[in-house]
Amino acid sequence: MNTDILIVGGGAVGLTSAITLLEAGYRVTLLERGSLGQEASWAGGGIMSPLCSWDYQDAVTRLAHRSMAMFPGTAESLHQSTGIDPEYQRSGMLVLPPFDTDAALNWCGQRQFPVQTVNVADYLPGQDSLGLLLPEVAQVRNPRLLRALRKRVEMLGGVILEQHEVLNFLHHDSRISALQTTRGEFSADVYVITAGAWSKQLLGEHALQLNVKPIRGQILLLKFNAPPFQNILLKKDLYLIPRRDGHVLLGSTLEDVGFDKSITQIARDSLLGRVREIFPAWKNVEPIKHWAGFRPGSPDNIPTIARHPHFANLYANTGHFRYGVTMSLASAELLRNEIENRPQPIPVEEYRWR
Ligand SMILES: Cc1cc2nc3c(=O)[nH]c(=O)nc-3n(C[C@H](O)[C@H](O)[C@H](O)COP(=O)(O)OP(=O)(O)OC[C@H]3O[C@@H](n4cnc5c(N)ncnc54)[C@H](O)[C@@H]3O)c2cc1C
Repeated sequence: MNTDILIVGGGAVGLTSAITLLEAGYRVTLLERGSLGQEASWAGGGIMSPLCSWDYQDAVTRLAHRSMAMFPGTAESLHQSTGIDPEYQRSGMLVLPPFDTDAALNWCGQRQFPVQTVNVADYLPGQDSLGLLLPEVAQVRNPRLLRALRKRVEMLGGVILEQHEVLNFLHHDSRISALQTTRGEFSADVYVITAGAWSKQLLGEHALQLNVKPIRGQILLLKFNAPPFQNILLKKDLYLIPRRDGHVLLGSTLEDVGFDKSITQIARDSLLGRVREIFPAWKNVEPIKHWAGFRPGSPDNIPTIARHPHFANLYANTGHFRYGVTMSLASAELLRNEIENRPQPIPVEEYRWR
């Protein structure tokens, strides 16, 4: 098959890249090893923000916050055009103590990102402490977002080929000439790697210094008759994400265990133990589901969105670690600009492929 652009990997990053490139007029084919959107992008919580932005380098927050600003419009137009509601909602995030008040207020103040110090008891009756409310933080429901993205790719004429695992790259001089897959060879003018946690392994020797490795995250799903609170709650690195229908996601672990997708009793007990410290009345609340996914872990959570140093028609958009859904829209925008050699809207030096 011949096409303008071949994208390898159908998670949130591959799908948003495909949409941006299709909208720019390219013919795009997306190759997915398994079924579309079943890996990290499905497993994640859907918080549309870094947990505590002030803990991260500017290279992370610059990209994340640009993407966050793009999401309301994109979620609305996805809903309108596909009929699938990704349930984007600005539910706000309430940060429970302990937290670094000065760092938080300085960071938010400098960037005019809304923040308020609040009495937690006004949001969670009986919890008398000072909290931080970030009213702009939003959430999506990942499986719905992925379904909407897929439909949008199809509506724009993109070709999605599932059960097509890319095995190898064929190259000639400084260009990739074809991809070998489990279903034959595919060629294009441009190749984009969006294979998440598998990107480095897939690229093999061509990965160079692209340093992406799987970091397992486990999450529990709880169910209540109605949402027990309205805001996303964050206490250190434990978060609770209330959905409109009474589901609450409780996450997550950060485990460097290779490609082992097991769920563990230790993680379950630890997450439940920590949530019961916040809500002692939940001592009998049990999860209805428990799953794991592989974040595409990268140093300092900084993704690579760039052209390959040696192959003129090979690009990566990967390594988004904890915030790939959040960063996906702005990452796709940067990828398109990189392919077209256009000026970038934000500094991109840190996202270079070395
Ligand atoms: C528990 C957990 C909670 C999270 N919470 C959040 C959150 O609240 N907010 C947020 O923004 N992010 C969150 N994340 C991180 C986020 O999910 C990831 O950063 C993001 O999904 C990465 O997207 P991706 O498209 O790069 O990877 P993936 O979604 O993993 O997609 C990569 C795709 O590439 C395919 N692939 C791999 N190898 C090949 C090959 N050789 N050939 C063809 N296809 C291939 C895979 O099958 C897969 O479908 C969380 C992650 C986890 C695990």
